[in-house]
Amino acid sequence: MIGENHRPRFRAVSQEDRAALQEIVGEDALSDRRGDLEQHARDAGHFAGQMAELVIWPANAEQVAQVLRYCNDGQIPVTAWGAGSGLEGNAIPVCGGVSLSMTRMNRILDVHADDFQVTCQPGIGHKDLNEQLAREGLFFPPDPGANASIGGMIANNAAGIRTVKYGATKDNVLRMQVALADGSLIEVGSRSIKQSCGYDLLHLIIGSEGTLGIVTEATLKLTPLPMAVSSALAHFPDVEMAVEAVVAIRGSGLEPAALEFMDAHHVEMINRSEGMAMEEKPTLFMEFHHSNETALQVGLEFLEEICAELGATGYRATADPAERRKLWHVRHHSYEIMVRSHPGMNFLILDVAVPISAYPALIHAARERIADRGAVGYFLGHAGDGNIHIELPFPEGDERAYHAALALNDDIVAEALALGGTATGEHGVGMGKAHWMEREHGKALGVMRSIKETLDPKGILNPGKIFPQDVPELIHA
Ligand SMILES: Cc1cc2nc3c(=O)[nH]c(=O)nc-3n(C[C@H](O)[C@H](O)[C@H](O)COP(=O)(O)OP(=O)(O)OC[C@H]3O[C@@H](n4cnc5c(N)ncnc54)[C@H](O)[C@@H]3O)c2cc1C
Repeated sequence: MIGENHRPRFRAVSQEDRAALQEIVGEDALSDRRGDLEQHARDAGHFAGQMAELVIWPANAEQVAQVLRYCNDGQIPVTAWGAGSGLEGNAIPVCGGVSLSMTRMNRILDVHADDFQVTCQPGIGHKDLNEQLAREGLFFPPDPGANASIGGMIANNAAGIRTVKYGATKDNVLRMQVALADGSLIEVGSRSIKQSCGYDLLHLIIGSEGTLGIVTEATLKLTPLPMAVSSALAHFPDVEMAVEAVVAIRGSGLEPAALEFMDAHHVEMINRSEGMAMEEKPTLFMEFHHSNETALQVGLEFLEEICAELGATGYRATADPAERRKLWHVRHHSYEIMVRSHPGMNFLILDVAVPISAYPALIHAARERIADRGAVGYFLGHAGDGNIHIELPFPEGDERAYHAALALNDDIVAEALALGGTATGEHGVGMGKAHWMEREHGKALGVMRSIKETLDPKGILNPGKIFPQDVPELIHA
Protein backbone atom coordinates (compact mmCIF):
# COMPACT_ATOMS: atom_id res chain seq x y z
CA MET A 1 0.00 0.00 0.00
CA ILE A 2 1.36 3.43 -0.89
CA GLY A 3 0.72 6.38 1.40
CA GLU A 4 -1.64 8.82 -0.27
CA ASN A 5 0.14 11.87 1.17
CA HIS A 6 3.43 11.43 -0.51
CA ARG A 7 3.08 9.11 -3.52
CA PRO A 8 1.98 11.96 -5.83
CA ARG A 9 5.26 13.77 -5.09
CA PHE A 10 7.08 11.09 -7.05
CA ARG A 11 7.15 10.14 -10.68
CA ALA A 12 6.60 6.56 -11.80
CA VAL A 13 9.65 4.94 -13.42
CA SER A 14 9.21 5.12 -17.20
CA GLN A 15 10.85 3.10 -19.97
CA GLU A 16 13.10 6.13 -20.64
CA ASP A 17 14.16 6.15 -16.99
CA ARG A 18 14.87 2.43 -17.15
CA ALA A 19 17.03 2.89 -20.25
CA ALA A 20 18.92 5.84 -18.74
CA LEU A 21 19.59 3.96 -15.49
CA GLN A 22 20.70 0.91 -17.47
CA GLU A 23 23.25 3.16 -19.22
CA ILE A 24 24.72 3.91 -15.79
CA VAL A 25 24.89 0.43 -14.25
CA GLY A 26 24.71 -1.99 -17.19
CA GLU A 27 22.05 -4.46 -18.27
CA ASP A 28 22.79 -7.15 -15.69
CA ALA A 29 22.57 -4.72 -12.75
CA LEU A 30 18.96 -3.68 -13.07
CA SER A 31 15.70 -5.62 -12.99
CA ASP A 32 11.96 -5.16 -13.00
CA ARG A 33 11.24 -8.88 -12.86
CA ARG A 34 8.54 -9.71 -10.34
CA GLY A 35 10.74 -12.17 -8.43
CA ASP A 36 13.43 -9.53 -7.89
CA LEU A 37 10.89 -6.88 -6.92
CA GLU A 38 9.24 -9.26 -4.44
CA GLN A 39 12.60 -10.17 -2.93
CA HIS A 40 13.19 -6.49 -2.11
CA ALA A 41 9.64 -5.73 -0.96
CA ARG A 42 9.80 -6.79 2.69
CA ASP A 43 12.34 -7.01 5.44
CA ALA A 44 12.36 -9.43 8.40
CA GLY A 45 9.76 -7.43 10.36
CA HIS A 46 5.96 -7.67 10.47
CA PHE A 47 5.07 -5.11 7.80
CA ALA A 48 3.45 -6.05 4.52
CA GLY A 49 5.61 -5.75 1.46
CA GLN A 50 5.62 -2.95 -1.09
CA MET A 51 7.43 -3.51 -4.35
CA ALA A 52 9.79 -0.99 -5.91
CA GLU A 53 9.50 -0.47 -9.67
CA LEU A 54 13.13 -1.32 -10.32
CA VAL A 55 15.89 -3.07 -8.39
CA ILE A 56 19.38 -1.75 -9.16
CA TRP A 57 22.65 -3.39 -8.01
CA PRO A 58 25.37 -0.72 -8.32
CA ALA A 59 28.99 -1.89 -8.60
CA ASN A 60 30.74 1.16 -7.17
CA ALA A 61 30.34 4.57 -5.53
CA GLU A 62 30.33 6.44 -8.84
CA GLN A 63 27.37 4.39 -10.05
CA VAL A 64 25.51 5.04 -6.78
CA ALA A 65 26.15 8.76 -7.19
CA GLN A 66 24.99 8.78 -10.83
CA VAL A 67 21.83 6.81 -10.02
CA LEU A 68 21.01 9.28 -7.25
CA ARG A 69 21.66 12.29 -9.48
CA TYR A 70 19.35 10.87 -12.14
CA CYS A 71 16.60 9.95 -9.67
CA ASN A 72 16.85 13.29 -7.88
CA ASP A 73 16.46 15.16 -11.16
CA GLY A 74 13.54 12.91 -12.11
CA GLN A 75 11.84 12.87 -8.68
CA ILE A 76 12.13 9.08 -8.35
CA PRO A 77 12.42 7.64 -4.81
CA VAL A 78 15.47 5.54 -3.91
CA THR A 79 15.54 3.16 -0.96
CA ALA A 80 18.81 1.42 -0.10
CA TRP A 81 18.74 -2.32 0.55
CA GLY A 82 21.42 -4.05 2.64
CA ALA A 83 20.55 -7.62 3.64
CA GLY A 84 16.84 -7.04 4.38
CA SER A 85 17.20 -8.16 8.01
CA GLY A 86 15.74 -4.93 9.45
CA LEU A 87 12.72 -5.27 11.72
CA GLU A 88 10.93 -1.92 11.47
CA GLY A 89 10.23 -1.85 7.73
CA ASN A 90 13.32 0.36 7.33
CA ALA A 91 14.25 -0.90 3.82
CA ILE A 92 10.74 -1.34 2.39
CA PRO A 93 10.36 0.90 -0.68
CA VAL A 94 6.94 2.16 0.42
CA CYS A 95 6.80 4.79 -2.31
CA GLY A 96 7.94 2.50 -5.12
CA GLY A 97 10.78 3.81 -7.29
CA VAL A 98 14.21 2.19 -7.01
CA SER A 99 15.37 -0.38 -4.49
CA LEU A 100 19.14 0.18 -4.48
CA SER A 101 20.63 -3.15 -3.47
CA MET A 102 24.16 -2.75 -2.14
CA THR A 103 24.88 -6.48 -2.20
CA ARG A 104 27.41 -6.35 -5.06
CA MET A 105 29.48 -3.70 -3.29
CA ASN A 106 30.77 -6.28 -0.83
CA ARG A 107 34.56 -6.04 -0.94
CA ILE A 108 37.14 -5.36 1.72
CA LEU A 109 39.19 -2.51 0.25
CA ASP A 110 42.04 -2.33 2.77
CA VAL A 111 42.94 -3.88 6.12
CA HIS A 112 44.95 -1.36 8.12
CA ALA A 113 46.09 -4.03 10.58
CA ASP A 114 48.59 -1.81 12.39
CA ASP A 115 45.83 0.71 13.08
CA PHE A 116 43.18 -1.92 13.94
CA GLN A 117 40.98 -0.69 11.11
CA VAL A 118 39.38 -1.96 7.92
CA THR A 119 37.99 -0.06 4.95
CA CYS A 120 35.20 -1.89 3.17
CA GLN A 121 32.24 -1.49 0.89
CA PRO A 122 28.81 -1.35 2.56
CA GLY A 123 27.31 -4.53 1.10
CA ILE A 124 29.58 -6.96 2.95
CA GLY A 125 27.89 -8.96 5.71
CA HIS A 126 29.43 -8.41 9.14
CA LYS A 127 29.90 -12.17 9.57
CA ASP A 128 31.70 -12.43 6.21
CA LEU A 129 33.84 -9.46 7.19
CA ASN A 130 34.76 -11.04 10.52
CA GLU A 131 35.58 -14.36 8.90
CA GLN A 132 38.20 -12.61 6.78
CA LEU A 133 39.48 -10.40 9.59
CA ALA A 134 40.05 -13.42 11.85
CA ARG A 135 43.15 -14.19 9.74
CA GLU A 136 44.60 -10.91 11.02
CA GLY A 137 43.56 -11.67 14.62
CA LEU A 138 41.01 -8.83 14.51
CA PHE A 139 37.24 -8.43 14.57
CA PHE A 140 34.48 -5.84 14.18
CA PRO A 141 32.53 -6.26 17.44
CA PRO A 142 28.91 -5.14 16.79
CA ASP A 143 26.89 -8.31 16.24
CA PRO A 144 23.18 -8.15 15.43
CA GLY A 145 22.89 -11.90 15.00
CA ALA A 146 21.59 -11.87 11.42
CA ASN A 147 24.28 -11.50 8.73
CA ALA A 148 23.36 -7.83 8.31
CA SER A 149 25.36 -5.74 5.87
CA ILE A 150 27.77 -3.11 7.18
CA GLY A 151 25.75 -0.41 5.35
CA GLY A 152 22.49 -1.60 6.95
CA MET A 153 24.15 -1.72 10.37
CA ILE A 154 25.47 1.81 9.94
CA ALA A 155 22.08 3.03 8.69
CA ASN A 156 20.22 1.52 11.66
CA ASN A 157 23.03 1.99 14.18
CA ALA A 158 22.71 -1.72 14.91
CA ALA A 159 24.01 -3.04 18.21
CA GLY A 160 23.43 -6.60 19.46
CA ILE A 161 25.01 -8.89 22.00
CA ARG A 162 28.49 -7.36 22.34
CA THR A 163 27.44 -3.73 22.79
CA VAL A 164 27.75 -3.97 26.55
CA LYS A 165 31.54 -4.12 26.19
CA TYR A 166 32.37 -2.80 22.73
CA GLY A 167 29.61 -0.30 21.95
CA ALA A 168 27.10 -0.09 19.10
CA THR A 169 27.93 0.43 15.42
CA LYS A 170 28.21 4.21 15.97
CA ASP A 171 31.12 3.61 18.37
CA ASN A 172 33.01 1.50 15.82
CA VAL A 173 32.95 3.61 12.64
CA LEU A 174 35.65 6.19 11.93
CA ARG A 175 35.03 7.53 8.44
CA MET A 176 32.69 7.00 5.52
CA GLN A 177 32.18 7.97 1.92
CA VAL A 178 28.56 8.96 1.36
CA ALA A 179 26.58 9.65 -1.81
CA LEU A 180 24.11 12.49 -1.29
CA ALA A 181 20.73 12.82 -2.98
CA ASP A 182 22.08 15.28 -5.56
CA GLY A 183 24.75 12.80 -6.63
CA SER A 184 27.73 14.37 -4.88
CA LEU A 185 30.14 12.10 -3.02
CA ILE A 186 31.40 13.37 0.32
CA GLU A 187 33.86 12.09 2.95
CA VAL A 188 32.81 12.25 6.60
CA GLY A 189 35.03 11.53 9.62
CA SER A 190 38.67 10.48 9.33
CA ARG A 191 40.91 7.50 10.12
CA SER A 192 42.13 9.19 13.28
CA ILE A 193 40.68 7.76 16.51
CA LYS A 194 40.43 11.30 17.87
CA GLN A 195 38.46 13.74 15.76
CA SER A 196 37.25 17.21 16.67
CA CYS A 197 37.27 18.99 13.33
CA GLY A 198 33.90 20.59 12.68
CA TYR A 199 30.37 19.25 12.76
CA ASP A 200 30.18 15.50 13.32
CA LEU A 201 28.58 14.52 10.01
CA LEU A 202 29.75 10.93 10.51
CA HIS A 203 27.36 10.46 13.39
CA LEU A 204 24.63 12.40 11.62
CA ILE A 205 24.62 9.83 8.82
CA ILE A 206 24.93 6.84 11.19
CA GLY A 207 21.41 5.90 12.26
CA SER A 208 19.75 7.95 9.49
CA GLU A 209 18.34 4.80 7.82
CA GLY A 210 19.31 5.81 4.29
CA THR A 211 17.21 9.01 4.48
CA LEU A 212 20.16 11.44 4.29
CA GLY A 213 22.64 9.65 2.02
CA ILE A 214 23.85 6.28 0.83
CA VAL A 215 26.99 4.92 2.47
CA THR A 216 29.36 3.77 -0.27
CA GLU A 217 32.47 3.00 1.82
CA ALA A 218 33.32 2.82 5.52
CA THR A 219 36.43 2.61 7.67
CA LEU A 220 35.64 0.61 10.78
CA LYS A 221 37.39 0.38 14.12
CA LEU A 222 38.55 -3.18 14.91
CA THR A 223 39.44 -4.99 18.12
CA PRO A 224 42.09 -7.72 18.59
CA LEU A 225 40.51 -11.14 19.08
CA PRO A 226 40.54 -11.87 22.83
CA MET A 227 43.13 -14.42 24.05
CA ALA A 228 40.92 -15.87 26.78
CA VAL A 229 37.17 -16.36 26.35
CA SER A 230 34.56 -18.01 28.51
CA SER A 231 30.80 -18.25 28.36
CA ALA A 232 28.61 -18.60 31.44
CA LEU A 233 24.98 -19.44 32.12
CA ALA A 234 23.09 -18.56 35.29
CA HIS A 235 19.51 -19.62 36.02
CA PHE A 236 17.23 -17.80 38.47
CA PRO A 237 13.98 -18.77 40.20
CA ASP A 238 12.11 -15.81 38.74
CA VAL A 239 12.40 -12.96 36.26
CA GLU A 240 12.81 -10.28 38.94
CA MET A 241 15.84 -12.02 40.47
CA ALA A 242 17.42 -12.50 37.05
CA VAL A 243 17.11 -8.85 36.06
CA GLU A 244 18.31 -7.63 39.47
CA ALA A 245 21.37 -9.82 38.87
CA VAL A 246 21.96 -8.00 35.57
CA VAL A 247 22.27 -4.68 37.38
CA ALA A 248 24.55 -6.23 40.03
CA ILE A 249 26.84 -7.82 37.42
CA ARG A 250 27.12 -4.51 35.57
CA GLY A 251 27.93 -2.79 38.85
CA SER A 252 30.57 -5.35 39.82
CA GLY A 253 33.18 -4.08 37.37
CA LEU A 254 33.34 -7.46 35.63
CA GLU A 255 32.75 -5.98 32.15
CA PRO A 256 30.95 -8.84 30.40
CA ALA A 257 31.33 -8.96 26.62
CA ALA A 258 27.72 -10.18 26.46
CA LEU A 259 25.02 -10.17 29.13
CA GLU A 260 21.79 -11.50 27.73
CA PHE A 261 18.48 -12.27 29.41
CA MET A 262 16.14 -15.02 28.24
CA ASP A 263 12.82 -16.02 29.82
CA ALA A 264 11.94 -19.61 30.77
CA HIS A 265 9.71 -20.04 27.72
CA HIS A 266 12.64 -19.40 25.36
CA VAL A 267 14.83 -21.83 27.30
CA GLU A 268 12.10 -24.45 27.06
CA MET A 269 11.72 -23.92 23.28
CA ILE A 270 15.49 -24.19 22.81
CA ASN A 271 15.74 -27.38 24.90
CA ARG A 272 12.93 -28.94 22.90
CA SER A 273 14.17 -27.87 19.48
CA GLU A 274 17.95 -28.29 19.97
CA GLY A 275 18.02 -31.26 22.34
CA MET A 276 19.60 -29.26 25.15
CA ALA A 277 19.03 -29.65 28.87
CA MET A 278 19.25 -26.18 30.35
CA GLU A 279 17.26 -25.41 33.52
CA GLU A 280 13.96 -24.07 32.26
CA LYS A 281 14.12 -20.88 34.27
CA PRO A 282 14.86 -17.22 33.57
CA THR A 283 18.45 -17.36 32.40
CA LEU A 284 21.40 -15.06 31.84
CA PHE A 285 23.71 -15.90 28.92
CA MET A 286 27.10 -14.27 29.41
CA GLU A 287 30.48 -14.06 27.76
CA PHE A 288 33.76 -12.72 29.11
CA HIS A 289 36.82 -11.67 27.11
CA HIS A 290 40.24 -11.21 28.64
CA SER A 291 43.83 -10.84 27.54
CA ASN A 292 44.91 -13.74 29.80
CA GLU A 293 43.49 -16.89 31.44
CA THR A 294 44.32 -15.90 35.02
CA ALA A 295 42.33 -12.67 34.87
CA LEU A 296 39.48 -14.55 33.21
CA GLN A 297 39.37 -17.22 35.94
CA VAL A 298 39.42 -14.63 38.75
CA GLY A 299 36.51 -12.85 37.07
CA LEU A 300 34.51 -16.05 36.65
CA GLU A 301 34.93 -16.99 40.32
CA PHE A 302 33.67 -13.55 41.29
CA LEU A 303 30.74 -13.95 38.87
CA GLU A 304 29.78 -17.29 40.40
CA GLU A 305 29.80 -15.71 43.87
CA ILE A 306 27.59 -12.82 42.72
CA CYS A 307 25.10 -15.18 41.06
CA ALA A 308 24.96 -17.44 44.14
CA GLU A 309 24.43 -14.44 46.43
CA LEU A 310 21.59 -13.26 44.22
CA GLY A 311 19.83 -16.61 44.39
CA ALA A 312 20.89 -18.39 41.17
CA THR A 313 19.70 -21.99 41.18
CA GLY A 314 22.24 -23.03 38.59
CA TYR A 315 25.52 -21.69 37.21
CA ARG A 316 27.92 -23.03 34.65
CA ALA A 317 30.94 -21.52 32.91
CA THR A 318 32.64 -23.06 29.92
CA ALA A 319 35.69 -22.20 27.85
CA ASP A 320 35.17 -25.19 25.55
CA PRO A 321 34.90 -23.68 22.03
CA ALA A 322 32.32 -26.22 20.79
CA GLU A 323 30.07 -25.71 23.80
CA ARG A 324 30.40 -21.94 23.56
CA ARG A 325 29.58 -22.02 19.85
CA LYS A 326 26.47 -24.09 20.59
CA LEU A 327 25.30 -21.69 23.31
CA TRP A 328 25.68 -18.62 21.13
CA HIS A 329 24.21 -20.44 18.16
CA VAL A 330 21.00 -21.12 20.09
CA ARG A 331 20.98 -17.58 21.49
CA HIS A 332 21.35 -16.12 17.99
CA HIS A 333 18.67 -18.42 16.60
CA SER A 334 16.29 -18.14 19.53
CA TYR A 335 13.87 -15.98 17.52
CA GLU A 336 13.82 -18.47 14.63
CA ILE A 337 13.35 -21.31 17.13
CA MET A 338 10.43 -19.40 18.63
CA VAL A 339 8.83 -18.89 15.20
CA ARG A 340 9.33 -22.55 14.25
CA SER A 341 7.80 -23.64 17.55
CA HIS A 342 4.64 -21.56 16.99
CA PRO A 343 3.29 -22.51 13.56
CA GLY A 344 0.60 -20.17 12.25
CA MET A 345 1.77 -17.32 14.47
CA ASN A 346 3.43 -14.09 13.46
CA PHE A 347 5.46 -11.99 15.92
CA LEU A 348 5.84 -8.31 16.57
CA ILE A 349 9.32 -7.80 18.05
CA LEU A 350 9.36 -4.99 20.56
CA ASP A 351 12.63 -3.11 21.03
CA VAL A 352 13.08 -0.55 23.82
CA ALA A 353 15.98 0.42 26.08
CA VAL A 354 16.35 2.24 29.39
CA PRO A 355 19.20 3.26 31.72
CA ILE A 356 20.47 0.08 33.39
CA SER A 357 19.20 0.98 36.89
CA ALA A 358 15.66 1.20 35.45
CA TYR A 359 15.86 -2.21 33.77
CA PRO A 360 14.12 -4.16 36.54
CA ALA A 361 11.35 -1.52 36.65
CA LEU A 362 10.93 -1.74 32.86
CA ILE A 363 10.65 -5.53 32.91
CA HIS A 364 8.19 -5.34 35.82
CA ALA A 365 6.05 -2.72 34.05
CA ALA A 366 6.13 -4.64 30.76
CA ARG A 367 4.92 -7.81 32.48
CA GLU A 368 2.13 -5.85 34.14
CA ARG A 369 1.01 -4.27 30.84
CA ILE A 370 1.01 -7.71 29.19
CA ALA A 371 -1.06 -9.15 32.06
CA ASP A 372 -3.45 -6.14 31.99
CA ARG A 373 -4.26 -6.90 28.37
CA GLY A 374 -4.52 -10.64 28.97
CA ALA A 375 -1.78 -11.09 26.38
CA VAL A 376 1.37 -13.16 26.01
CA GLY A 377 4.92 -11.88 25.50
CA TYR A 378 8.24 -13.69 25.39
CA PHE A 379 11.25 -11.81 26.78
CA LEU A 380 14.70 -11.86 25.25
CA GLY A 381 17.09 -9.01 25.74
CA HIS A 382 20.50 -7.46 25.56
CA ALA A 383 20.05 -6.91 29.28
CA GLY A 384 23.58 -5.65 29.89
CA ASP A 385 22.76 -2.46 28.03
CA GLY A 386 19.24 -2.02 29.32
CA ASN A 387 17.69 -3.27 26.06
CA ILE A 388 14.75 -5.67 25.93
CA HIS A 389 12.99 -7.37 23.04
CA ILE A 390 9.56 -8.82 23.72
CA GLU A 391 8.09 -11.10 21.11
CA LEU A 392 4.37 -10.44 20.91
CA PRO A 393 2.62 -13.26 19.03
CA PHE A 394 -0.52 -12.86 16.93
CA PRO A 395 -2.20 -15.37 14.62
CA GLU A 396 -1.22 -14.92 10.98
CA GLY A 397 -3.83 -12.74 9.22
CA ASP A 398 -5.77 -11.85 12.41
CA GLU A 399 -6.16 -8.10 12.08
CA ARG A 400 -7.66 -7.61 15.56
CA ALA A 401 -4.91 -9.56 17.30
CA TYR A 402 -2.31 -7.66 15.28
CA HIS A 403 -3.71 -4.30 16.42
CA ALA A 404 -3.82 -5.58 20.00
CA ALA A 405 -0.11 -6.44 19.73
CA LEU A 406 0.61 -2.94 18.34
CA ALA A 407 -1.30 -1.37 21.24
CA LEU A 408 0.64 -3.45 23.76
CA ASN A 409 3.87 -2.49 22.02
CA ASP A 410 2.88 1.16 22.49
CA ASP A 411 2.06 0.63 26.18
CA ILE A 412 5.56 -0.71 26.77
CA VAL A 413 7.26 2.01 24.71
CA ALA A 414 5.44 4.56 26.90
CA GLU A 415 6.81 2.82 30.01
CA ALA A 416 10.36 2.89 28.59
CA LEU A 417 10.12 6.63 27.83
CA ALA A 418 8.73 7.33 31.30
CA LEU A 419 11.80 5.57 32.72
CA GLY A 420 14.17 7.86 30.79
CA GLY A 421 14.66 5.40 27.94
CA THR A 422 14.09 5.30 24.21
CA ALA A 423 11.46 3.95 21.82
CA THR A 424 14.10 1.92 19.99
CA GLY A 425 17.42 0.66 21.31
CA GLU A 426 18.75 -0.78 18.07
CA HIS A 427 16.18 -1.57 15.37
CA GLY A 428 15.72 2.04 14.29
CA VAL A 429 12.56 4.01 13.58
CA GLY A 430 11.56 2.80 10.10
CA MET A 431 7.77 2.88 9.98
CA GLY A 432 6.99 1.17 13.27
CA LYS A 433 8.39 3.78 15.67
CA ALA A 434 7.80 6.99 13.69
CA HIS A 435 4.72 7.90 15.73
CA TRP A 436 6.95 8.06 18.83
CA MET A 437 9.43 10.54 17.32
CA GLU A 438 7.66 13.68 18.52
CA ARG A 439 7.18 12.35 22.05
CA GLU A 440 10.82 11.28 22.33
CA HIS A 441 12.43 14.25 20.60
CA GLY A 442 10.02 17.20 20.97
CA LYS A 443 11.31 20.27 19.13
CA ALA A 444 14.43 18.37 18.06
CA LEU A 445 12.24 16.58 15.53
CA GLY A 446 11.85 19.93 13.73
CA VAL A 447 15.65 20.21 13.61
CA MET A 448 15.81 16.72 12.11
CA ARG A 449 13.24 17.76 9.48
CA SER A 450 15.38 20.83 8.58
CA ILE A 451 18.44 18.61 8.18
CA LYS A 452 16.48 16.25 5.95
CA GLU A 453 15.26 19.15 3.80
CA THR A 454 18.80 20.51 3.48
CA LEU A 455 20.42 17.24 2.45
CA ASP A 456 17.51 15.79 0.47
CA PRO A 457 15.24 18.70 -0.53
CA LYS A 458 13.14 16.59 -2.91
CA GLY A 459 12.74 13.85 -0.32
CA ILE A 460 13.78 11.02 -2.66
CA LEU A 461 15.86 9.09 -0.08
CA ASN A 462 13.86 6.35 1.65
CA PRO A 463 10.60 8.32 1.86
CA GLY A 464 7.92 7.16 4.29
CA LYS A 465 10.31 6.53 7.20
CA ILE A 466 11.25 8.26 10.46
CA PHE A 467 9.00 11.34 10.08
CA PRO A 468 5.51 10.49 11.36
CA GLN A 469 3.54 12.52 8.81
CA ASP A 470 5.31 10.69 5.94
CA VAL A 471 4.60 7.13 7.07
CA PRO A 472 1.82 5.21 5.33
CA GLU A 473 -0.84 3.54 7.42
CA LEU A 474 0.63 0.65 9.42
CA ILE A 475 0.26 -2.53 7.48
CA HIS A 476 1.28 -6.14 7.90
CA ALA A 477 1.19 -9.34 5.92
C1 LIG B 1 16.84 -12.75 13.76
C2 LIG B 1 17.24 -11.30 13.82
C3 LIG B 1 17.96 -10.83 14.90
C4 LIG B 1 18.33 -9.50 14.97
N1 LIG B 1 19.04 -9.07 16.05
C5 LIG B 1 19.45 -7.80 16.09
C6 LIG B 1 20.27 -7.35 17.18
O1 LIG B 1 20.58 -8.10 18.09
N2 LIG B 1 20.68 -6.06 17.17
C7 LIG B 1 20.35 -5.19 16.17
O2 LIG B 1 20.77 -4.05 16.21
N3 LIG B 1 19.57 -5.58 15.14
C8 LIG B 1 19.12 -6.84 15.07
N4 LIG B 1 18.36 -7.26 14.01
C9 LIG B 1 17.92 -6.28 13.01
C10 LIG B 1 18.84 -6.10 11.78
O3 LIG B 1 19.77 -7.16 11.63
C11 LIG B 1 19.54 -4.75 11.84
O4 LIG B 1 18.59 -3.71 11.85
C12 LIG B 1 20.52 -4.48 10.69
O5 LIG B 1 21.17 -3.25 10.92
C13 LIG B 1 19.87 -4.45 9.32
O6 LIG B 1 20.90 -4.55 8.35
P1 LIG B 1 20.60 -5.00 6.86
O7 LIG B 1 21.88 -5.04 6.12
O8 LIG B 1 19.78 -6.22 6.84
O9 LIG B 1 19.77 -3.74 6.35
P2 LIG B 1 18.36 -3.64 5.65
O10 LIG B 1 17.32 -4.27 6.49
O11 LIG B 1 18.46 -4.06 4.24
O12 LIG B 1 18.19 -2.05 5.69
C14 LIG B 1 18.13 -1.37 6.91
C15 LIG B 1 18.21 0.13 6.66
O13 LIG B 1 19.49 0.45 6.16
C16 LIG B 1 19.38 1.23 4.96
N5 LIG B 1 20.60 0.93 4.21
C17 LIG B 1 21.07 -0.28 3.81
N6 LIG B 1 22.26 -0.14 3.22
C18 LIG B 1 22.55 1.19 3.23
C19 LIG B 1 23.63 1.97 2.76
N7 LIG B 1 24.69 1.44 2.16
N8 LIG B 1 23.58 3.31 2.94
C20 LIG B 1 22.52 3.89 3.56
N9 LIG B 1 21.47 3.21 4.02
C21 LIG B 1 21.49 1.88 3.86
C22 LIG B 1 18.07 0.77 4.37
O14 LIG B 1 17.54 1.72 3.48
C23 LIG B 1 17.22 0.63 5.63
O15 LIG B 1 16.74 1.89 6.03
C24 LIG B 1 17.98 -8.60 13.92
C25 LIG B 1 17.26 -9.08 12.83
C26 LIG B 1 16.89 -10.41 12.77
C27 LIG B 1 16.12 -10.88 11.57
